[in-house]
Amino acid sequence: MSLPIVHYNDPVLRRKGDKITSFDAALARLAADMVDTMHDAGGIGLAAQQIGRAIQLCVVDLRAAEIDFTWELDGAKPPLELFMPMTLVNPVIKIDPDTDDYIVEEGCLSFPQIRGDVVRPDGITVTYQDERGVPHTLRCNGLLARCIQHEVDHLNGILFIDRMEKKIRAKIDADIKALAKATRDAAKKTNA
Ligand code: ZN
Repeated sequence: MSLPIVHYNDPVLRRKGDKITSFDAALARLAADMVDTMHDAGGIGLAAQQIGRAIQLCVVDLRAAEIDFTWELDGAKPPLELFMPMTLVNPVIKIDPDTDDYIVEEGCLSFPQIRGDVVRPDGITVTYQDERGVPHTLRCNGLLARCIQHEVDHLNGILFIDRMEKKIRAKIDADIKALAKATRDAAKKTNA
């Protein structure tokens, strides 16, 4: 079931997610709904804050993307189809010590039509649990690592506009302000 997506500058997007300790049917259902929401919106990742919940849960699916990245999941290299869509619970990222930073234009489902260049490190190792609580270690780079960094930022209340250089951010500042106003106005209507 697809859920409504929260837009900037809803306050929940700035809340750090609480750690998840209960791996029950409700969590599995929420993760499945988030996957539906991500697919319906044409996204490759979605964090719980984006559906209005401040908890450490995000989903990622890169099966439709160009495979310009490598991965090693729990020491093996399973086909993407076997582990995507992925549910990451309580993820923690470690940047590879000798990896390079690079720039890619990113978008975000909470910022419709707004895009901008973001610098991020390439190679990461992320430890997380799946929706059943089983721990995993994923080493990856390229778009997969970038997508996971973007989503884990959401889980900590950090948005991609925070990571843009000043001059990049300045170019889209008017669009960001207009979006914040539209979100505010929509909330007023709901509360009225
Ligand atoms: Zn996002």
